[in-house]
Amino acid sequence: MPEDIYKIFKEETKVLVTGGAGFIGGCFIRRLLNNTNAKIFNLDKLSYASDLSWLNYSNNKDNFKLININLKDSDAVIRALKDANPDYVIHLAAESHVDRSIDNPSSFIESNIVGTFNLLNAVKIHFKNLNHERKNNFRLLHVSTDEVYGSLGSTGFFSESTPYDPRSPYSASKAASDHLVNAWHHTYDLPILLTNCSNNFGPYQFPEKLIPLIINKAINKNEIPIYGDGLNVRDWLFVEDHIDALLKVISFGNIGKCYCVGGFGEKNNLEIVKNICEILDSSFRRDFNHESLIKFVKDRPGHDKRYSIDSSLIQKELNWKPKTDFSSNLKFTVNWYLQNTKWIENVLTKSDYLGTRLGTNF
Ligand code: NAD
Repeated sequence: MPEDIYKIFKEETKVLVTGGAGFIGGCFIRRLLNNTNAKIFNLDKLSYASDLSWLNYSNNKDNFKLININLKDSDAVIRALKDANPDYVIHLAAESHVDRSIDNPSSFIESNIVGTFNLLNAVKIHFKNLNHERKNNFRLLHVSTDEVYGSLGSTGFFSESTPYDPRSPYSASKAASDHLVNAWHHTYDLPILLTNCSNNFGPYQFPEKLIPLIINKAINKNEIPIYGDGLNVRDWLFVEDHIDALLKVISFGNIGKCYCVGGFGEKNNLEIVKNICEILDSSFRRDFNHESLIKFVKDRPGHDKRYSIDSSLIQKELNWKPKTDFSSNLKFTVNWYLQNTKWIENVLTKSDYLGTRLGTNF
């Protein structure tokens, strides 16, 4: 069974990560900087969701280079691939928030579909120019979401064979990007890998996404909004477990294959909010009932009811599963945000996001 997830990343290895200033990409890069001597190139347009403050505390930061461009600029992407000359490309750059895709779908089409097309085109040119040995080792890993599969009822799971059925502008744009990646493999023989994962959580996530948003609201005694009845279920995946999965897929995955990555952490939104409130009641403000801040608000349009992933393929083929359970990871995450309130303040100020509800302005 494959185990050494850093073996392919040698001192001379060059890795291009798109979206490395975002939540998951940042975690991926920190892992490589801390555990390898590979050279990392981060292609990122630096949006409201970007943060590179962690670089100040990183080992090996000389091995990191930012390429500050937008994937919609096709010529710049071709130049970036030429300059970085990568052995591996991990494609994480995307507009990623469903509510924002409801208000402003065009930026999702531009970044997630046109951006992926431009990257594929540039990778195709780069791949063609590699020598035989580098061609054999080259991989492009495209990181996608379980949301492309639509919505489940109270039973069942998504797996690699589930037909696509996206329902939000975000998931439709990700589905389109997955199809492009698969088409570039079948038509042009690009050695691609694809992952479809569930909702991630952990440190450094921009506080518009559910878990950091709730923590931030609760810390500040602001109302905690819950969409609809709060019973929408997600399969929560701790970001460090997700990075293990990505490293296993890029190192040992079968070319052309898709792997579903779930967190074994199915919870509805109301449970998540209550769990966070309990942690805050016991470790932050003992004299305050944080649940009293909960307020039910109008549901998100087209809100998918339930996502759940059957991760048996990646478990069986690549011996991956989450290392720790959901509740320990949630406690760790809440404590991280409690210790990093300055970070929350800085990213919010930098982005102009005021914590107000998104996805109602259409
Ligand atoms: P994020 O929003 O935190 O970060 C995305 C990064 O991509 C940002 O730094 C942004 O500047 C960059 N980016 C966006 N459009 C770009 C463009 N046109 N050109 C260059 N850079 C651009 O996202 P995340 O949560 O880290 O998600 C990373 C990937 O994982 C995305 O592809 C997302 O669809 C996928 N995913 C995320 C989750 C999750 O729960 N966060 C779940 C499933 C899949």
